[in-house]
Amino acid sequence: MTAPEESYSDALMAAFRHARRWLGSQEERRVGPRLTAAELAPAFGGPLPQDGTPAADVVEYLAERAEPGLMAMPSGRFFGWVIGGTLPAALAADWLVSAWDQNTGLRFATPATAAIEEAAGRWLLELLGLPQEAGAGFTTGATMANFTGLAAARWRLMTDAGWDLDADGLAGGPRIRCFVGEERHDTIDLGLRYLGLGRPTAVPVDRQGRIDPAGLDRALAGTGRGESGGSGHAPLLVCLQAGNLHSGAFDPFREAIAVAKSHGAWVHVDGAFGLWAAAVPELAALTSGMDGADSWGTDAHKTLNVPYDCGIVVVRDALALRAAMGVHTSYLIQEADGPADPFETVPELSRRARGVPVWAALKSLGRDGVADQVRGLVLHARRLAERLAELDGVEVLNDVSYTQVSLAFGDDSTTRAVTARIIADGRVWMSGSRWQDRDILRISVSNWSTDDADTAVAVDAVRDALAAVRG
Ligand SMILES: *Cc1c(COP(=O)(O)O)cnc(C)c1O
Repeated sequence: MTAPEESYSDALMAAFRHARRWLGSQEERRVGPRLTAAELAPAFGGPLPQDGTPAADVVEYLAERAEPGLMAMPSGRFFGWVIGGTLPAALAADWLVSAWDQNTGLRFATPATAAIEEAAGRWLLELLGLPQEAGAGFTTGATMANFTGLAAARWRLMTDAGWDLDADGLAGGPRIRCFVGEERHDTIDLGLRYLGLGRPTAVPVDRQGRIDPAGLDRALAGTGRGESGGSGHAPLLVCLQAGNLHSGAFDPFREAIAVAKSHGAWVHVDGAFGLWAAAVPELAALTSGMDGADSWGTDAHKTLNVPYDCGIVVVRDALALRAAMGVHTSYLIQEADGPADPFETVPELSRRARGVPVWAALKSLGRDGVADQVRGLVLHARRLAERLAELDGVEVLNDVSYTQVSLAFGDDSTTRAVTARIIADGRVWMSGSRWQDRDILRISVSNWSTDDADTAVAVDAVRDALAAVRG
C-alpha cells in the first residue's frame, strides 16, 4: 500500500507539469484546435478497458492526447463569444477547491468554504453597488444565475398574487407575463422555459440593442393590469440586459426600471459580462439606476476571469431566493435562524465550492485591480475598433461603449469569408454571428491578459484575411 499522499503526488505532479506547459504555450500557439472531435475520438474511445491504469499515467495520456484538440481560450489572442481567461490566484484556488473536495451545501459541515463564499458574496455586492441586504448564490454560470433570479421572481409574484406555488404548482394560477428586449440573450428564454413561464413578449430595441422604455411602457400597459380579478394586479416580470452580446450596450436602466416599477413588475437584470462595468467609476453611466432592479445574474468566468464554471445570482428579496431554492427537508441539519445555507440559494444541493476562486480573484486584484481589469478590456476593445475602422473595407457596426466590437466587410458572403479566413489563419480567434439582419464578425475582449501586442496581431490578422479574400 502506498500512502495516500504518494498516490496523489505522482498524478498531481503530472497535472502540474502539463498545466504549466499548456499555460506557457498560450503566448505563441495557434489559437484554434488542430484536430476535430471526430479525429480525436479514437484516442479516448474504444471499449472500456478491462484493467485499470496508474493515475499518473492516466494524466499523462489525457494531457498528451487532448492537446491537439484544445482551443487556446486562456490566450490574450482569443476573442471568441464572451469568454474570459483565468487569473493565477483563481486557478490555483480552484485546484485547492478540488483537493479540499468540500460539498459546499451546509454551513456547519463545510464552514471554511461557506465563510469564504459568504465573504466573496458581500464583496461582490459592495463592488457592484448592489443592495447589501440581498441574497447571493454561486451557480454554474449566468444561465443558471438568471434562472435562479427568475425562480425567485416567480415565487414572489405568485405569492403576492395569493397563489401557493409550492403546493399547487403553476396550473390554474395567475399567469405571469414576461417582457424582454428583442436582443436579450437566448438563455433568458431558456430560463423562462425551465420555469414554465412560456415565451416572453419582445419589446423593440434601438440600433445598439437597448430596450425602448416607451415601448416597454406600452407593452406593460397592454396587459390590462388588474385583469386577474380581485387579488391584485397581473404578475409582471421584466428582464433587462447589462451588456448586449453584439454591441456591448446596456439597457437604459433608470428609465426602464421606473417604467417597470410603475406597473408593479419584478425587474431582473442579465448582466453576464456587463454587470462588472459597475466596478469602474468612469463607466458609471452604463449601469446608472441598475441597482433599482430586484435580481441580477452574472458570470464570474467571463469578465472577472475565474475558471469555468462560475456564475452569481443576487436577489434583493433574500427570502424569495431562499423560498424558491431551499430544500425544506428535515434530515439536513440547519442552524435555526442564521444566514442561508449555501444550498438554499442555488439549484444544486451538492456542489463544489465554486465561490472560492471568486474570493481569490477579488483578493488578488482588490477593488482597484478589478476596475483596472475591466477598464483594460474596454480600452483594448475601443483601440481595436479605432484601428480596424481605419482599414479600407471594414465597417464597425456598434458604438464601442464596452468590451464588444461587431464588424462587417461589405456583403454577408465577404464577411463570412473573412471570418473563415481569420479562423483558419490561427493567430487570433473571433466569432462569426448574425446581428440586425447582417452577418458579422464579433470581437469580445474578455481576457485579463490581452495586451497591446495581442490587439496589434488581431488588426494584422483581420487586414490580411480581408486582403486574401479580395484576392
Ligand atoms: C454568456 C451569457 C449568458 C449565459 O451565460 P453562461 O455562463 O454561458 O451560462 C447569458 N447572458 C449573456 C448576456 C451572456 O453573455
